[in-house]
Amino acid sequence: TEYLRFESDRCTWLRPTSLQQLLEIKETYPDCKLVTGNTEIGIEVKFQKRHFKVMVSPAFVKELREVKTTDLGIQFGASVTLTDMEKHLRLAVQTMPEERTRVFIGFLEMLKWFAGHQIRNVASLGGNVMNASPISDLNPLLMACNAEIEFAAAKQGHRRVKIDTDFFRGYKKTRVRPLEILVSITIPFSSEVRKDAYFSYLLEEESVCPEDSKWDNSLLEYACSKDLLQADLPLPVGAPGGMVAYRKTLTLSFFFRFYLSVLQRIE
Ligand code: FAD
Repeated sequence: TEYLRFESDRCTWLRPTSLQQLLEIKETYPDCKLVTGNTEIGIEVKFQKRHFKVMVSPAFVKELREVKTTDLGIQFGASVTLTDMEKHLRLAVQTMPEERTRVFIGFLEMLKWFAGHQIRNVASLGGNVMNASPISDLNPLLMACNAEIEFAAAKQGHRRVKIDTDFFRGYKKTRVRPLEILVSITIPFSSEVRKDAYFSYLLEEESVCPEDSKWDNSLLEYACSKDLLQADLPLPVGAPGGMVAYRKTLTLSFFFRFYLSVLQRIE
């Protein structure tokens, strides 16, 4: 079937209406730029004067707009806006048992601070992941809960990968392969043992705490006294964004806050 196509000497704009068309476009134009909410790309074009010869809007691709509840969690199409994501997470929190939705509560708490309504109404979850910015607010949460990503390419088909320590390969780089696009992101239900924060990731995966340790003052002292948090989140002098001493102190403050919030829940 036909799809919208605008063409000039400078730029081609395509708006496919199915996933198959989108994947074929990506195969034909590997360097094409997918534009979803345009809140990142707009900045690159306006302030960094970047130019993309072929731009593709996936706005009409059903699979990228769907939200489904699966056995694993809630699966969000890559183009789902942050406002819609918030609505679905809130509904799940209101209707499902608390122990299954703790991760969602973490996302809801964070989304309050994510930009303003105008940005959240158009910015997508997929755009945030694929932008792979080190200052993304969502990516640390997605890593902490081990969210699952679905990529697709015309010939290779679909594949699923976890957002783990290997997923982000560097500044604005992910494990996406050259002809792939992002289809969906699944945020898993929490289980009894999973804690919903970045620090749970540190504690569980990076063994900041010694084995058999209890959630009490000794753990707090251990994590702080040995500078383990500072070692896990190194910030060299002159790191982008500045205020290095302040940000290092924040790491400890956030850990202390997380420690107290877990303590309240388990007491
Ligand atoms: P786009 O700009 O459309 O795309 C971003 C990147 O993702 C592009 O490289 C694009 O090609 C790629 N992409 C998009 N969809 C796909 C797909 N399906 N498959 C493969 N690649 C794809 N970010 C924060 O984390 N926290 C904030 O508080 C925050 N505040 C902001 C405030 C302002 C005023 C602005 C302008 C931006 C802010 N951002 C913030 C950054 C931005 O809003 C987010 O990163 C947003 O989620 C990007 O989504 P988007 O749909 O607009 O992405």
